[in-house]
Amino acid sequence: MNEDRGTYRPLSYFQLMEVSLRELLVEKGVLTDAEVDAAVEDMRRRGPERGARVVARAWTDPAFKARLLADGTRACEELGFDLPALRLVVVENTPEVHNAIVCTLCSCYPRMLLGLPPDWYKSREYRARMVREPRAVLAEFGLVLPETVRIRVHDSTADMRYMVLPMRPAGTEGWSEERLASIVTRDAMIGVAVPKVA
Ligand code: FE
Repeated sequence: MNEDRGTYRPLSYFQLMEVSLRELLVEKGVLTDAEVDAAVEDMRRRGPERGARVVARAWTDPAFKARLLADGTRACEELGFDLPALRLVVVENTPEVHNAIVCTLCSCYPRMLLGLPPDWYKSREYRARMVREPRAVLAEFGLVLPETVRIRVHDSTADMRYMVLPMRPAGTEGWSEERLASIVTRDAMIGVAVPKVA
């Protein structure tokens, strides 16, 4: 893969570990190369649709919302979305509190629900500044919150992921779950935006 870039660069520690582990699993017959490729392709293709469906369900079903806030992993299983070995914590935006997520250490992200993280999420700048000056960072994303709204920033870890449950916007009364899901963006579930009615 490195050679494709024209210049040869030695594998990093983690690349080497990935290759070694993968080759060992294939050699032992635990996995096939095709299965690994399919899983990677599936991960690449995945967008934030699953997360949006979870949010839309929570907006329309108060009992589901209560279960989602109590145990995100289990509630997602109800919709057929497995989050193996991950504790998903769903944090709810209210008129008083706005939540946002970050991984200060690396780029932990609820990929099973949101797909691959955007590049800015992985950037050193976002990771460092989001915890120090969240209000300023959110403003740069175009989200200016009133001073009366408290901002809570949640730092993800390797075994615990967060997802923001945005507030359902006014003017969506009577909407179907599908229509509601269509306005739930990736950024709204990270907490750097809020859903808008077009
Ligand atoms: Fe991380």
